[in-house]
Amino acid sequence: METCIFCKIIKGELPAHKVYEDEDTLAFLDINPTSAGHTLVIPKGHYANFEEVPEDVLKKTILIVKLIGQKLKDGLGVESYNVCENNDEAAGQLIPHIHFHLVPRYKGDGLKPWPQAPYAEGKAEEVLKKIKIN
Ligand code: AMP
Ligand code: ZN
Repeated sequence: METCIFCKIIKGELPAHKVYEDEDTLAFLDINPTSAGHTLVIPKGHYANFEEVPEDVLKKTILIVKLIGQKLKDGLGVESYNVCENNDEAAGQLIPHIHFHLVPRYKGDGLKPWPQAPYAEGKAEEVLKKIKIN
């Protein structure tokens, strides 16, 4: 896609610190890392989100996420990492080309991705009625 920043990186029109590349997938350092080694993994095809990305592409992409996660541990000595995909705008997706964040984490780093609270009485059952698959 012409205007997509990540497509431009794939085409070499914008620079990136590439961690991994193959025919279908690219991984590169996030320009604004939460912590050192914060990496983005993207399919080379332009798909906005989970709904758009074909299953075979998604499988290839997620296997590279796993590969990079291992490399962050082995190469950079990170203790843990978060894998995050902000799916659409309300979830914080700024660049509509599906990408998985790998964010290196350390005990006591103080990062809290999102707040949580228990369901009010009956709410879990109400929600479940609408989304239960089997
Ligand atoms: P999201 O909010 O999930 O869409 O994340 C987009 C991410 O892309 C952010 O973490 C940005 O820091 C990162 N980003 C934006 N432009 C670039 C770029 N040119 N190279 C590397 N990372 C980028
Ligand atoms: Zn794109």
